[in-house]
Amino acid sequence: MILNSNPIREVIGSLAARLRSAIRSFASRGASKKELENLIRELQRVLIASDVDVKLVSELSKRIREKAKEKPLPGLTVKEHVLRVVYDELVRLVGEGSEIPVKRDVKMVLVGLFGSGKTTTAAKLGYWLKKRGITPTLASLDRDRPAAYEQLKQLGDRMGLETVREIPSPPCIVDTAGRDALDQKMLKEVREVVRKLKPHHVFLVVPAEMGHEAGKQAAAFGELLTAVIVTRMDGSAKGGGALSACASAGVPVAFIGTGERLDDFELFNPKRYVSRLLGWGDIEGLLEKAKEVQSEVKFDPKDLSTLNMLTFYKQMEALTKMGPFEKVLQMVGLTDLDKKTMEGLKAKLKKYKAIIDSMTREERLNPDILSRSRVERIAAGSGTSTSDVRGLLKEFNTMKKMLKGLRGGKLGKYALKKGLKGFKGMKFR
Ligand code: GDP
Ligand code: MG
Repeated sequence: MILNSNPIREVIGSLAARLRSAIRSFASRGASKKELENLIRELQRVLIASDVDVKLVSELSKRIREKAKEKPLPGLTVKEHVLRVVYDELVRLVGEGSEIPVKRDVKMVLVGLFGSGKTTTAAKLGYWLKKRGITPTLASLDRDRPAAYEQLKQLGDRMGLETVREIPSPPCIVDTAGRDALDQKMLKEVREVVRKLKPHHVFLVVPAEMGHEAGKQAAAFGELLTAVIVTRMDGSAKGGGALSACASAGVPVAFIGTGERLDDFELFNPKRYVSRLLGWGDIEGLLEKAKEVQSEVKFDPKDLSTLNMLTFYKQMEALTKMGPFEKVLQMVGLTDLDKKTMEGLKAKLKKYKAIIDSMTREERLNPDILSRSRVERIAAGSGTSTSDVRGLLKEFNTMKKMLKGLRGGKLGKYALKKGLKGFKGMKFR
């Protein structure tokens, strides 16, 4: 493929592929501490290869570890919860993005060092506005370099946009003179343009290959800047470093340049960026799922169809916490679960959680479909034995019977009592 013949693009591609493969490997194994550490380690490698500042990487790792311990949202397994945490933290790492109101009288100024992609970006931005019904004038203020104006004019002509050499009336996009280094002279010039034009936006243009150094540049401009535009995201693996450094310097990234053509340019959307990096479908599916399954975890003792592996687990969990279930226990005179029994129950629950995590959605909602081969797969996936899995299924079915009985009045109460006694007396491995 032609696209793949670009070696730099391959580097970016291979980093993203490494990230995805780390996530896939985490998702296919048990959600143990060891697997989480493996995932974090691979994530760190990829981020550092993308030139993300080491301090930011270590902060991110710490937050992932902490949040991974929190209780998953209803409907999410521990594994899915961890993946969601990773996603959220990556989005947070690359910043917030920036809303660009499209106004009839918009005035934008681009600043940056030579070769950063400023002139190309001025044209791309012009095209971006034009597609939104605004026809800006392009202006080149680079007086020392006539070629700079010529370059912008060529691009402007292609789009039917007027190109001038002085500060124009709005709507307009102003390409300022580039510099070899960010110095006082450059800052002074920028201040001058800002004073004269009073622009809505002053964008610092930085190339992706600048990596985390981009943050220092953005910070040097201080209040003068409204946002950053990172160019050549397609050409350097260090884009992640540039994005995260700007975010950490408190300057939003408004746009990214993703190629040499005029429409290789887009508003920077952190969620979309990270989703693409991780494989769009996976994340979307996961977030959807969290919403969808929420309704499935509401358990109603009067409605047998609300009993599934997830609601069952919740009931057992409640039992160990002496939460709402305590009432039921009192009712049947079973409030005397001793400490040792409780510890055993907790240990068992941990195992059950691993087993349920290894089930597919379909299996969780309808455990009746668990054939022998499915049981074997789940045991292997959760690091338990087939007899553990069958033990869980047996208890699930006991609960089901109890519930059926519960609906039958007096007899139900008896069945419940009997069932719970059986539960209490069960051996914990
Ligand atoms: P300036 O000196 O800051 O005005 O930089 P230019 O606009 O002249 O761009 C320098 C080089 O970067 C040119 O070859 C552009 O085609 C290239 N360039 C700018 N933006 C992008 C981008 O997003 N992707 C790629 N691949 N090249 C870009
Ligand atoms: Mg230029």
